Amino acid sequence: MPAERSLRSVAEVTVKNKGREPIDSLHLNMGGGGIEQDATIPGAELELNDERVNYRIYKLAKPLMPGEELHFTVTSTHEEKGFENNVSAMQLNHNGTFFNNMDVLPMIGYTANGELQDKNDRKDHDLPPKERMPRLTSDSLTRMQQYLMPNSDWVNVRTVISTTPDQIAIAPGSLKREWTENGKRYFEYVVDHPSMNFYSFMSAKYEVHREKWNDVEVEVYYHPTHATNVPRMANSIRKSLAYYSANFGPYRHKQARIIEFPRYQSFAQAFPGTMPYSEGIGFIADLSDTADIDMVFYVVAHEMGHQWWAHQVMGADMQGSTLLSETMSQYSALMVMEEEYGRDQMRKFLKLESDRYQRSRGSEDLKEVPLLEVENQGYIHYNKGSVVLYCLRDFVGEDSLNTAFRNLVDTFAYAEPPYPTALDMYRELEQVVPDSLEYLLIDGFKKITLYNNRVDKASARLLPDSTYEVTLELFGEKNYADSLGRETPASMNDWMDVSILRYPKLGRKADKSLNEVPLIQQRLRLRSGVNKLTFSVPEKPMQAVIDRDNLFFDRVMQDNVKKVDVE
Ligand SMILES: [Zn+2]
Repeated sequence: MPAERSLRSVAEVTVKNKGREPIDSLHLNMGGGGIEQDATIPGAELELNDERVNYRIYKLAKPLMPGEELHFTVTSTHEEKGFENNVSAMQLNHNGTFFNNMDVLPMIGYTANGELQDKNDRKDHDLPPKERMPRLTSDSLTRMQQYLMPNSDWVNVRTVISTTPDQIAIAPGSLKREWTENGKRYFEYVVDHPSMNFYSFMSAKYEVHREKWNDVEVEVYYHPTHATNVPRMANSIRKSLAYYSANFGPYRHKQARIIEFPRYQSFAQAFPGTMPYSEGIGFIADLSDTADIDMVFYVVAHEMGHQWWAHQVMGADMQGSTLLSETMSQYSALMVMEEEYGRDQMRKFLKLESDRYQRSRGSEDLKEVPLLEVENQGYIHYNKGSVVLYCLRDFVGEDSLNTAFRNLVDTFAYAEPPYPTALDMYRELEQVVPDSLEYLLIDGFKKITLYNNRVDKASARLLPDSTYEVTLELFGEKNYADSLGRETPASMNDWMDVSILRYPKLGRKADKSLNEVPLIQQRLRLRSGVNKLTFSVPEKPMQAVIDRDNLFFDRVMQDNVKKVDVE
């Protein structure tokens, strides 16, 4: 009950032995979010209860045979007890409750998440150093678990949830019934398609914005005074549904909901058909300057991307898994953003991504890995991933690239294990990338590639026919970095965009010149070392630029631009 910050939940759980061996005991990770969990397993005996790490082992009355099911009950409770130094169960609030299944259900089976990570701690206990993630492999046995919710595949969920009469409680799926009983407001929801074992429950005094996209109910649940960005959010949902359905495959839920929660936390997160969204990063964001990147539109598009990339196609628990979820959601969001805001905004966005990637790789504390082997590192799967996939799209075309991604969805959406890996994605990409551009795949996914190109000289002279002849001296340099950042030179004969920019029209700021239509822009092969080029342009040139759209990582971006000296 929100008014008392209390919670009581009873979950009826069905598990199935999907393996080939009998199972004699059940391992439960009882959670630790300040909500007490207890399990009742018929006939089972509590063999171990390690309260320090909330880990229990129940010995079953008789082994669970392959194919057999077991039903048990989990009860979770929280009561607020006076004033606390550190507030427990922050998920529960008077107005704005948001918890997920892990708060009220144990994670089943052994997980390596609880193992000591720190190399010194491990040394103290005579343990060998631990890899951050299992190595990328196509071996089907290691592909039996997905990376986010190990030990569960696709599940059915039915929720009956009650709250105070002035609040709306939301669980994933379609609303089947709503009624009042004993002074409480009840709701019953059923998820329309078996989904990932990851879902949220929310309750607050909501205003609801409702629209339709085809047969999908588009809903935004918000605090009544936080209405400003709501239409923008709904717009992003509709645009995302349209693009992703057309290019990747059907949306599998009957509703797409954004639900506001208080800014005790600042993130948005995708659950099946629903997207809890912190007031702090969206609902109260000031987006009145139209020159700014629309971060709210972008975040919604990214989270909607997860309805395909994670909630349909889910990576196996190993290196490269977040390529299939986070990088793919980034790519998806970039395509929807580009349709809405155009290429100039994308150029700006990619510059930010590139800066963030290069800054963060400097503070990597273990090792940088190529994109294909990403170990859940944000600066790689988000920031680097955006640039690599946008670049690939620019070279091979959106339709070709989306064909590869659609094939991934066709093969792996809601599929039973073995789960797909980054190698499956790479194989699809190889099908659509011509041999002449294979180096883009290798440099982007398998290596850590950094250019160090620059414009050394740029001059122009006026010809009698009033055109200008521009002479450029461009220096090409490409390096491959290893996991510790050591670079080795790579020979370069790579396509790069070379542009000559015009003076901005009167009244426009000079720093907007990058967004003017260039006098000339050509995709040319640049070799390592000095490249001399001559162009003819119709009017007085202002600057020469290498890779104006930020499609590649360059160590020093500032020297990719140079003012043209006009004789
Ligand atoms: Zn994400």
